[in-house]
Amino acid sequence: MSGVLRQVSKAVFAVGDRLLPDLPGPRILIYHQVGGGSDLEMEVAPDAFRSHVEWLADNADVVPLERAEGTDSVVLTFDDGYRSLYEEAFPLLQKRRMPFTLFLTTAPVETGEPLREHPGAEPLTWDMVKEMLDSGLMTIGAHTHTHPDFRHLTPAEVEAELDRSDALIEERLGTRPRYFAYTWGYWSPSADPAVRRRYDRAFLGGPPPFPRLSDPHLAYRVPVQLSDGTRWFHSRIRGGLRWEEAVRRRLRGYRGP
Ligand SMILES: [Zn+2]
Repeated sequence: MSGVLRQVSKAVFAVGDRLLPDLPGPRILIYHQVGGGSDLEMEVAPDAFRSHVEWLADNADVVPLERAEGTDSVVLTFDDGYRSLYEEAFPLLQKRRMPFTLFLTTAPVETGEPLREHPGAEPLTWDMVKEMLDSGLMTIGAHTHTHPDFRHLTPAEVEAELDRSDALIEERLGTRPRYFAYTWGYWSPSADPAVRRRYDRAFLGGPPPFPRLSDPHLAYRVPVQLSDGTRWFHSRIRGGLRWEEAVRRRLRGYRGP
């Protein structure tokens, strides 16, 4: 989609949010890379991220995931475990003493090999993860071992992914993850029982137009995109750009919650 068209559609989606009931609950924002140079929508530019942090410091209550439930605060989450979290985002977050959560995919950090889907994106090292955890600002969450789409896995394959990821996190960091983020944001019936058994809460991708928030294992987050820049970031916080999410999910063939 061209840049202009994308900006126009965001304006329409932002108006669409206003026609919906308020999005209740905390805004749990999803980031991936900060300045990886890929032009992917899942990435944000370092300057944009800096302006997000500055805006949040003045206008929002940014809290750790553990303290978010039942509030209208903001939570920052970073998925997968890219090196740019440590290099670009962490120094800014540390300066502001702003808490965040890392939903870590363990295979890339264990092997040093980037995720297959993002071959140019360097993963974190365990030392980097440990340093961020020791800062007291970071909560660690699970995000599988190899980042598969659970919709295509059997329950046994799901268990193996979660076993490996949880064991590595415990072995390397000395803590067991209490939170889980579904890869690609896609819920799967083959994974649901195992996820409920293992974790206190589980998170999906973007909120649908009429989200149900009562189930702690089907909690929504709000993805922040490259094309949001600074302007639409505020719309993300306000209403989640829910129609944009609904259209994107539809285009990708996702029909789940
Ligand atoms: Zn992911």
